[in-house]
Amino acid sequence: LALKANSEHKTVIQLSDRVSIGGPDLLIVGGPCSVENQMQMEIIANRLAAAPVQALRGGVYKPRTSPYDFQGLGVEGLQILASMRDRYGLPVITEVMAISQIEEIAAHADVLQVGSRNMQNFDLLKALGQVNKPVLLKRGLAATIEELVMAAEYILSHGNSQVILCERGIRSFDSYTRNVLDLGAVVALRQITHLPIVVDPSHATGKRELVADLARAAVACGADGIMVECHPEPEKSISDARQTISLEDMVSLVRSLEPIAAAV
Ligand code: PEP
Ligand code: MN
Repeated sequence: LALKANSEHKTVIQLSDRVSIGGPDLLIVGGPCSVENQMQMEIIANRLAAAPVQALRGGVYKPRTSPYDFQGLGVEGLQILASMRDRYGLPVITEVMAISQIEEIAAHADVLQVGSRNMQNFDLLKALGQVNKPVLLKRGLAATIEELVMAAEYILSHGNSQVILCERGIRSFDSYTRNVLDLGAVVALRQITHLPIVVDPSHATGKRELVADLARAAVACGADGIMVECHPEPEKSISDARQTISLEDMVSLVRSLEPIAAAV
């Protein structure tokens, strides 16, 4: 069950031999919105490994609002991600949009991400229950905390106990930010579930100048990890350029998180 049986219990999930989430160490995930090419990923992985960031993200199957926008590199992108993992020892996270993609993604990636738009794709969740890899489950665009917990329950009850919850902002009335980051949900989830929680301030805000402060706030609220979109040339990102921070800013952010993580 996703809900805690007692207040002591916390699930620790291994992303690789060396990297885990839910234990004492903060998990920092960085990478571009989309995997664009080998060179882009090489520059990013090299810089992030030294930051240090513990895991690399990058979409290869992209849930774009418009069907005419870049849809991701697909299998070629998976191969690029796997080569970064082999070269830099960083576990890699990428989104799975359909049951038909599970096998191939599980063969290349360390964590399978369920995007917000699929949080209640129950057949996909059930299928991920049969996979022996961690799943990063992002909160739906307008999902309640209970709906998120129930979505996790679909994966757990079908046999996969490795579920990481992700708060990525919810839709509200104010379009100043892309979404509204619900840090109250992070605190509440920590109290009611034993599953590790990641906060994504990039999709939550949609604005790069807001990302670092909210990442720090998330860690202060007890998030087990943060996931941030970054790119060597943020404004040239193929997708989500406006919310993507530079690698320099990512390195500074990582440094600033250390004392906060140590204090919580
Ligand atoms: C992503 O993290 O790549 C993504 C598409 O985010 P979300 O599903 O939260 O919109
Ligand atoms: Mn994105």
